[in-house]
Amino acid sequence: MKDKLQRIKEEAFKQIQDSDALEKLNEVRVAFLGKKGELTAVLKSMKDVAPEDKPMVGQLVNDTRQAIEALLEETKSKLEKAALQLKLQNEGIDVTLPAKKEQLGHRHPNTIALEEVERIFIGMGYEVVEGPEIENNYYNFDALNIPDNHPAKDEQDTFYINSDMVLRTATSPVQVREMEKGKLPIRMIAPGRVFRSDEVDATHSPSFHQVEGLVIDKNITFADLKGTLAEFAKELFGPDTKVKFRPHYFPFTEPSAELDVSCYKCGGKGCRFCKGEGWIEILGCGMVHPNVLRMSGIDPDEYSGFAFGMGLERIALLKYEIDDMRLLYENDYRFLKQF
Ligand SMILES: [Zn+2]
Repeated sequence: MKDKLQRIKEEAFKQIQDSDALEKLNEVRVAFLGKKGELTAVLKSMKDVAPEDKPMVGQLVNDTRQAIEALLEETKSKLEKAALQLKLQNEGIDVTLPAKKEQLGHRHPNTIALEEVERIFIGMGYEVVEGPEIENNYYNFDALNIPDNHPAKDEQDTFYINSDMVLRTATSPVQVREMEKGKLPIRMIAPGRVFRSDEVDATHSPSFHQVEGLVIDKNITFADLKGTLAEFAKELFGPDTKVKFRPHYFPFTEPSAELDVSCYKCGGKGCRFCKGEGWIEILGCGMVHPNVLRMSGIDPDEYSGFAFGMGLERIALLKYEIDDMRLLYENDYRFLKQF
């Protein structure tokens, strides 16, 4: 038994000294001290040792184990030091090498367009307000005067999470939440991501962005709406921009309109860009419906207001003359760096 232990110890020492890497050292540890290791096997055979020899043999096994462990530890720390030394040597910096060219990211056309829209409205005293992307039916539909049988609630163009929760189809719920706070007057824009169950094509995406706006105060009229949005269009597309309001229908505004701006490419004469129309549609707007005010606890006899909403992507596409919305979501650096 004593000879056997001596042999094991010598063999272990030899293998430890031959180890030139930490992984190798670990293999040696397992081979000798592991569950199925050689020393462990000796320990298991202790039951065959005569009872009077057991303490002595046990002591011997322990000594051997300690000796192997000590050498393993010592070798391990030597190898670690050597590895660190090597790493430091290899990572030395050659200051004479040309610098790596840093590819800085780039602001996305959506971000640039949003900052432009925000800048214009903040300049007119508006506040930027955000809200949740997952909404309940009430905020997304009911509070906006959209009844249960309204086509906007169709599950074909809405992502429902359950019967009461939807991925918001517009940022209008943010306006409702703001009105409910009861702090008047309100002058706000609500930018954010919205969701519709649309097929992806050059002008549609199941997830896109809107910027909506809301003004509530005493004596707000359609003239305020027209003046504000005409000013916005001039700021965004240039001082010569003309605007045209076409009557339209939205459940949450009355009267409602769509806003066209004169084509900034041809000045209104008609060109390929405006498809010969001379006008480009940019947003929907209208006077906030009395039902909407009432539901949010605002007295329509005392207060009135207007609201508007635009697709941010549409603004970005128009402003930067991009002809396919999908380009905005591909994050191709070659595309993005042009803006
Ligand atoms: Zn044109």
